[in-house]
Amino acid sequence: MDFNFNIGGFAAQPQVKSFDSEKIYDVLIIGGGPAGLTAAVYSLRKGLITGIVTDQVGGQMAETTGIENYLGYRYIDGMELVNKFRDQVLQFGIDFESKAKVKNIKDGRIKQVELEDGRVYQAKSIIIASGKQNKKLGLEKERELTGHGVAYCAICDAPFFADKRVVVAGGGNSGVQAAIDLAKVATHVTLVQRRDHLTADQILIDKLSAYSNVDYKLNHVLSGLEGDKKLTAVRAEDRSSKEEITLEADGLFVEIGLIPNSAFVTGLVEMNGYNEIKVDSYCRTNVDGIFAAGDVTTVPYKQIIVACGEGSKAALAATDYLLNSPDL
Ligand SMILES: Cc1cc2nc3c(=O)[nH]c(=O)nc-3n(C[C@H](O)[C@H](O)[C@H](O)COP(=O)(O)OP(=O)(O)OC[C@H]3O[C@@H](n4cnc5c(N)ncnc54)[C@H](O)[C@@H]3O)c2cc1C
Repeated sequence: MDFNFNIGGFAAQPQVKSFDSEKIYDVLIIGGGPAGLTAAVYSLRKGLITGIVTDQVGGQMAETTGIENYLGYRYIDGMELVNKFRDQVLQFGIDFESKAKVKNIKDGRIKQVELEDGRVYQAKSIIIASGKQNKKLGLEKERELTGHGVAYCAICDAPFFADKRVVVAGGGNSGVQAAIDLAKVATHVTLVQRRDHLTADQILIDKLSAYSNVDYKLNHVLSGLEGDKKLTAVRAEDRSSKEEITLEADGLFVEIGLIPNSAFVTGLVEMNGYNEIKVDSYCRTNVDGIFAAGDVTTVPYKQIIVACGEGSKAALAATDYLLNSPDL
């Protein structure tokens, strides 16, 4: 393939171009979270004809109250970091679809990416950076209170609940680990678990039982959220007696699992038992020309800085693939 190195350096104004179904992209990136946005910066700076298709910009960062472990910022709001990432991508000029969802990918020398609205884009290589989404409780007000008391990542957000009362939903490894992280800082932690026992590893259960500020509501499911603009309490129902209790709380950590956004490539690329896309250390999937990066993959430790590193690797690996594919 021929590379176009004329990227012109930094542009003063953001340059967003519309997608073109006639165009054949060198790299088409699916997902506008940290992995996808970093992959875009690297692809654009390699002079590749690059596009991003995403159904939302920022990914899980946009749901984060505050970030203290992304280097360069001692503290930054999730949305502020999203805007910085987005602006950095847009300055290079890129074809950007920010409200489009990919439905499936057809493999071939030139790959076809079909959107849910029926449009089809073509690309020589693809980077899948579609991330994960938290399993939601499905309760009324859950969406509006997210970031205002309702949180999904204790590793990230526990320090913001110092000296507050919190509830953790989920008694598996992530729920119990979240309760441990929170018990260190919060005044009180209530762990709500739908089963009549915790399903976490015994070592975690033992660790949690050492904290005196934790109590358990086993055999309970969360049934409601209270508060306008800010969470004030959660309601939980006893699964046997159907009796409902109200737990005053400043925070609710929903730790009932994450699902990879990989359904649109089921049957195309290899996945593990959790539907994470299998990648090697170059972010290559088992399909030539299809790369994957970030939380949607088997790479351990789902964090922003990890996703960014993986996004950069995927873009560099895609560049090598294009250089070494004489027919492209
Ligand atoms: C509440 C919360 C707080 C967190 N706090 C921190 C923190 O403080 N520090 C830290 O390092 N990490 C934190 N994390 C984890 C971190 O946000 C993730 O590890 C990181 O965002 C993963 O990046 P990603 O690009 O792989 O995926 P994502 O961020 O999940 O982005 C995936 C993108 O793909 C898009 N997409 C999905 N499916 C499709 C499709 N079919 N078609 C088109 N687009 C699609 C999504 O809209 C999204 O834009 C937190 C996570 C959460 C949920």
